[in-house]
Amino acid sequence: MEMEELTPHIQELQRVLGDKIDEDQIVEELNKYLNEYHVGIDAAKRGIIRKYGGSDTMGFVTGNTLTKKIGELTGSEQNVDITAKVVFVDTKDITVKGLPKKIVSGILGDETATASFTIWEPGAMVLAKGSVYNFRNCYCKTWNDKVQINIGSRGRIEVADGVRIDLPERQISASPTEVKIGNIKDGMGSVTVTGKVISVEAREITARGEQKTVYSGMLADDTGKIQFSAWSDFGIKEGESLCISNAYIRSWKGIPQLNMGDRCEVSRVDAITEIIDTSANKKTVDEITRIGGGLDITLEGLVVDVRQGSGIIRRCPQCNRSMLNGACTTHGMVEGVMDLRLKVVLDDGTGAIGAIINRADTEKLTGITLQAAQGLAAVKGESVVGREITGKILMKRIRVTGNVMSDDYGPSIIIKSAENVEIDLEAEANKLLEEVEAAI
Ligand SMILES: [Zn+2]
Repeated sequence: MEMEELTPHIQELQRVLGDKIDEDQIVEELNKYLNEYHVGIDAAKRGIIRKYGGSDTMGFVTGNTLTKKIGELTGSEQNVDITAKVVFVDTKDITVKGLPKKIVSGILGDETATASFTIWEPGAMVLAKGSVYNFRNCYCKTWNDKVQINIGSRGRIEVADGVRIDLPERQISASPTEVKIGNIKDGMGSVTVTGKVISVEAREITARGEQKTVYSGMLADDTGKIQFSAWSDFGIKEGESLCISNAYIRSWKGIPQLNMGDRCEVSRVDAITEIIDTSANKKTVDEITRIGGGLDITLEGLVVDVRQGSGIIRRCPQCNRSMLNGACTTHGMVEGVMDLRLKVVLDDGTGAIGAIINRADTEKLTGITLQAAQGLAAVKGESVVGREITGKILMKRIRVTGNVMSDDYGPSIIIKSAENVEIDLEAEANKLLEEVEAAI
């Protein structure tokens, strides 16, 4: 290398090392690295900086100077080269200063870590998920304590031919929030969950005139269970344990659901043996109100109110919805089908929640069958039936299991099973006494 070509590198080393080394020494060192050690100019500069203790390696801005593993990134890099595998990639339309712009973003991974990345001037190159690239002249920032890799107008992307990167399986999930199923809430966005497939089925649906297959089922861990829907075939089988990364949460009536879109990554994990016992999925009203919804939740409380619409009701024979004044809101005046139902308010000491109890459980809880209710109504009128039923259930303690949904009026529970709770008065009294004694 001619002296002329070396001049910018010498200047750069002087700038970085300051008065730690003079120009003659730099030339001598460079000569040694380049001609005796036979290394490239970049490696030579790095070596000299290390040797003379340059503190400013971060600001050492040249072509391909600094190469880092993702796990080494601090988020303050101004110019860094990264060789990484594309874990997932997506094109986004954004607006910059009122103008539409396309950017490419996703997650990069190597053996050490994963990080999100954004290509601000994507150009024609299309990144392939699972392929390895050299991302040159990147700059990094941090957001929410996480490093983000940016490829700006100075950046360059090259296919890293022959480079193989094996991501540790759990690294894939480093970016989205890793959560326990029982802690999943509405509005959580992107999550990673690990659970066991309780059930799965494929359904054909028509979306926008197109026939599609949806794979849906139930996933559970030791804290809860959740419905999932996958829009592509991940080959999910009942009984296997999965780490589902980058799924997103969408709620229907307050019940969170796990949606597995194109960005989703599914990996098989060691068998999960600890699965929530649904009968033990007991929550307080306060917890339910905070979560907003959930499946197969068990709740115990006192019936503090019996609402209008309890007792004998009529359902539309076409849509099965309850009718009002002999009419269905959709189908108009129809001959209703008699049914029995309870709409109650349950209070467990932490709060109150509305509960809708079906015919079978209403019969079980009150001891009044639909047939008996109809007989009573024929003789004494339906309002008497309502009073009878109210008298049997009000201020009784019941245990119910059902799905909690939320609407504008807050959460309510649609009961699948219900039972009276026999209060052991003696045991309750003793428990209270113990508590009192402990408090003294
Ligand atoms: Zn109807």
